[in-house]
Amino acid sequence: MKLTFLGTGTSTGVPTLTCKCRVCTSSDPRDRRTRPSVLLEFDGRAVVIDTAPDFREQALRAGLSRLDAVVFTHAHADHVMGLDDVRVFYFKQQVPIPIYADAQCMASIQRIFKYIFDQTYPYGGIAKLDPHVIDGPFELWGAVLTPVPVLHGNLPVLGFRFGRAAYVTDFSTIPETTLPLLEGLDLLILDALRHKPHPTHSNLEQSLALVSRLRPRRAFFTHIAHELPHSETNAQLPEHVQLAYDGLSVEVPGF
Ligand SMILES: [Zn+2]
Ligand SMILES: [Zn+2]
Repeated sequence: MKLTFLGTGTSTGVPTLTCKCRVCTSSDPRDRRTRPSVLLEFDGRAVVIDTAPDFREQALRAGLSRLDAVVFTHAHADHVMGLDDVRVFYFKQQVPIPIYADAQCMASIQRIFKYIFDQTYPYGGIAKLDPHVIDGPFELWGAVLTPVPVLHGNLPVLGFRFGRAAYVTDFSTIPETTLPLLEGLDLLILDALRHKPHPTHSNLEQSLALVSRLRPRRAFFTHIAHELPHSETNAQLPEHVQLAYDGLSVEVPGF
């Protein structure tokens, strides 16, 4: 399985509109961060976790020629607003695209994209989606995804474990009961917004402390705001812990 970071930015994206800070005006392409999403490719299949508002541009950049499923972490705008654009994959593949979310997230998606689920628009041109509510580990073409419950402020959000990897974005607290799901990993991807504490996001120092506790072989940080310059921040991090960047691909061990 190959994992590609489609987007590694916080909800506003980096550059942030109207901002002239050194990260927002940086010429390093790794300082340009679209909204958070990852692509999993395995066995000829392509699955995305979240459809960011930048999904179309991300899919173009990744050369995505098919899409087999979408898995959602939660229904905040930076994670769902690209969902309409999956219709082109439906037109091509002619099979409703399965989407996976917990009950609360699915209800929000069905409200936000009511026109897709109503299917009453008489002229076509909209996606057909096949909703699946996540209530435990589920299998996608041989890959088992285990939900990893975390808290984003007071909102329950899902991370996912697959093989010996886990993707956990948008959290401020990982409950003690969830931590065992993140032990023994080769690859751990965590939210790390900035240095300053934030009420709904883990910061760099908190995520580093989690890495020290969970001891994955490698860790990448995502959902990064414009406070963290890519190369300068990475130079200060331990070698096995790095900020991810848009377009970065890594092998997922355990498949
Ligand atoms: Zn987010
Ligand atoms: Zn800025």
